[in-house]
Amino acid sequence: MMKKEITNKLTGKKIIITGGAGFIGSHLVDRLLKMNNQVKVLDNLSSGNMDFLEHNLDNDNFTFKEMDLMDQKTLDEEIKDCHWVFHLAANPDVRLGASNTYVHLEQNVITTYNLLESMRKNGIKNIAFTSTSTVYGEAKEIPTPENYGPLIPISLYASSKLAAEGFITAYCSNYKMTSYIFRFANVVGSRSTHGVIFDFIHKLRENPLNLEILGSKPGTRKSYFHIKDCIDGIIHACLNSDEMVNIFNIGSMDHITVKTIADSVCNALELENIAYSWTGGVDGGKGGWKGDVKVMLLAMDKMNVIGFKPEYTSEEAVLKAAIEINNEC
Ligand code: NAD
Repeated sequence: MMKKEITNKLTGKKIIITGGAGFIGSHLVDRLLKMNNQVKVLDNLSSGNMDFLEHNLDNDNFTFKEMDLMDQKTLDEEIKDCHWVFHLAANPDVRLGASNTYVHLEQNVITTYNLLESMRKNGIKNIAFTSTSTVYGEAKEIPTPENYGPLIPISLYASSKLAAEGFITAYCSNYKMTSYIFRFANVVGSRSTHGVIFDFIHKLRENPLNLEILGSKPGTRKSYFHIKDCIDGIIHACLNSDEMVNIFNIGSMDHITVKTIADSVCNALELENIAYSWTGGVDGGKGGWKGDVKVMLLAMDKMNVIGFKPEYTSEEAVLKAAIEINNEC
């Protein structure tokens, strides 16, 4: 009986996925369709790709609407009658905030506000949101638990995600909504269109003798986790927690340096004796760029307590992702 109730929470539901044409969103579409839900993607295709959704276009339970979350009127219409909103649409380019100070405010905060307004007007109660480990800033406690504070973001991307988290929790409190907020480590795997592995593969295609790496040897040390663990974790947490606000870290249980990532990518591409050219980066070489967190490892105790453990270590996830991305491009 209990098991049936839990499964029904995310079975036979009408679900909106914003950003569903993106890397993580398209994998979530596949999983929620497999769980027999009706899934509608809202995406402006700014960084998303219809190729990631093509295999679902004939599925009667799947709908795609090309639209921008800045368009409040269309949003109000499109999300009517849904049971859940999985809000993934965002500008995820952390480096961009240093040169464009408005983009993350608009694309990550105002869009979230617009969505919450549509949910409030339509009486929609459940939201899952993809936040980030970067909200912790340069955390002094490693691994970093969800109740770590004060939160001092060092990039405009991170500050926009923290602001969005705040809007979501306040709407929950004011309008009796339930939220699932996921603070991700670096997600890697097939359909990835940005990030360090993607960059390295493209650079090595251009020059298979020498790899330019941002920062100074051995680079930052962070946690990387595979897209399969990411989707498993999201679904597991939504099915197994019931607070008004449910905040979970999700990552791998360890962290690795950029040098280890470079070695893994070279292994995956079967390249040997590659020379690494370190650019020096910023802050005396500690970070690759302005706003780059130097050390990140998330405490996974909360996810462990509800019965979830990631399948892959950081290094395994990176190696698997490098093979997948290399096969795709
Ligand atoms: P992505 O760029 O592949 O996906 C984002 C999607 O949102 C794209 O399909 C894009 O077209 C869409 N989008 C952007 N702005 C929009 C708007 N105004 N209206 C409608 N659609 C819009 O990125 P991703 O890596 O799949 O990230 C998904 C989410 O997870 C983001 O919120 C990101 O901040 C978060 N996240 C990602 C990682 C990671 O390692 N990839 C880590 C932490 C958090």
